[in-house]
Amino acid sequence: MSGASIVWFRHDTRLSDNPALAAAVGTGAPVIPVFVLDDAAPGLRLVGGAARWWTHHGLAALDADLRRRGSRLILRRGRTGEVFDRLVAETGAGAVFWNRRYDTAGRDIDAGIETALTARGVRTGSFGASLLHEPWTVRTQLGGPFRVFTPFWQACRTAATPSAPLPAPDRLEAPAVWPSSDPLASWRLLPTTPDWAGGLRETWTPGEAGAAAALATFLDDRLATYRDRRDRADLAATSALSPWLAAGDIGPRQVLNAVIDAARRDPEVTDQSVEKFAAELGWREFSWHLLFHFPTLPEVNFRAEFDAFPWRDDAPALRAWQRGLTGYPLVDAGMRQLWTTGWMHNRVRMVAASFLAKHLMIHWREGEAWFRDTLVDADPASNAAGWQWVAGSGADAAPFFRIFNPVLQGERFDPAGDYVRRYVPELARLPADWIHQPWKAPPRVLAEAGVRLGASYPLPIVDHGEARSRALAAFSSLRRVAA
Ligand SMILES: Cc1cc2nc3c(=O)[nH]c(=O)nc-3n(C[C@H](O)[C@H](O)[C@H](O)COP(=O)(O)OP(=O)(O)OC[C@H]3O[C@@H](n4cnc5c(N)ncnc54)[C@H](O)[C@@H]3O)c2cc1C
Repeated sequence: MSGASIVWFRHDTRLSDNPALAAAVGTGAPVIPVFVLDDAAPGLRLVGGAARWWTHHGLAALDADLRRRGSRLILRRGRTGEVFDRLVAETGAGAVFWNRRYDTAGRDIDAGIETALTARGVRTGSFGASLLHEPWTVRTQLGGPFRVFTPFWQACRTAATPSAPLPAPDRLEAPAVWPSSDPLASWRLLPTTPDWAGGLRETWTPGEAGAAAALATFLDDRLATYRDRRDRADLAATSALSPWLAAGDIGPRQVLNAVIDAARRDPEVTDQSVEKFAAELGWREFSWHLLFHFPTLPEVNFRAEFDAFPWRDDAPALRAWQRGLTGYPLVDAGMRQLWTTGWMHNRVRMVAASFLAKHLMIHWREGEAWFRDTLVDADPASNAAGWQWVAGSGADAAPFFRIFNPVLQGERFDPAGDYVRRYVPELARLPADWIHQPWKAPPRVLAEAGVRLGASYPLPIVDHGEARSRALAAFSSLRRVAA
């Protein structure tokens, strides 16, 4: 199998719009698709449980898609450098291609692999696939990185248009002999004791076909109303494409192109909906831009003055938040949606995150870690940027004094209470007037709805007004320190 081309899949588990795969096919040599599990790599952030579940099924889907084209996926576990040493020796591969990643640990590994392969006379090639604009291609007028979203997105819009997505190859030439592959099950990416993934299985179809189906649903049913309804937690009004985008089962060029095409065909899709949706993809781009230029974003306050913030250690409150037992129905519904399905509506993410960082004054890093473990779309850039944005410590962050009121947010974005009813069934029979603040409901209403506050559903673990004042006082102490 001399001269075979290895395509190294990472966060790009798809056959279409995959330039590394296209380059491998383009050599005319047999193609060996490979995925490496390197869980001991220094600096690589631990992948959470929900994302591991996704990875398992995404790899199974990729293998099935490859087999339909006469190929297969080779799985190898171990230190990446050693894996490639062995693979190149075993297969006599003449080239290795991959799509670029943008976190420091990943880039360091890739640079090491490139050096080692080049030294062995193996050709390498890397490509941009997971972003519309690679982080170094967009710069301020002074040549530095952006720290504010609006000018960043403006610069992206005037930068070179992202290239058109590539089609999937029809067939891949197989090597005469396949190298061995680990059985996927041996990687133990799925939870077993207990198997908590039932809700994930019901909700998601990882892989490229699942992504295409979700995109089609979005274009047909949701894009036209996206701008007006995207904040409604009770409606399926957004694309829910984030886990497929995070895994790379679909790429942003494919999504954006499909949205622009759909808008051309459908007169009901307004420019505003397209712009709004594109800007959300823009926040994903901005998050990666930040992580690339400020690699400590997942651990360190972007704004150093927050280092003096008096975060509280409060394990019982943290547990109540994680389990959806804060006594604030919108927050609890969000945290239970997260636990059951591995996903949470964006508006509710903001409210639930704000509740942890501001009402409870628990460090945003605790929230980032919990989301990282439980989100199927866990993404080192968007998660860190999202948490720092909410906490006020981030780039272009929400001002600290903007403290979401979970009751008002619920009344506004879940007006009939259907979202809360779905995920907090013990409140399902409460009328809409009280569902976002059951502690204010008259005893008769509570009795009729079968709600026993403090027993069947908790009383609020903090009073909104008091928590708000406490957070604002802490914030002004911070400003005094800085002054
Ligand atoms: C505290 C917090 C943590 C978050 N953690 C993550 C995370 O780990 N992974 C993740 O993908 N998103 C994260 N987000 C961003 C956002 O909540 C999700 O991307 C969005 O809810 C996904 O739903 P959707 O696919 O229906 O989005 P749509 O509204 O359909 O948007 C389309 C796509 O744009 C991107 N996007 C949308 N909003 C944002 C945003 N605010 N920031 C970055 N990208 C965005 C996503 O890739 C999304 O799939 C976080 C937000 C907050 C406030």
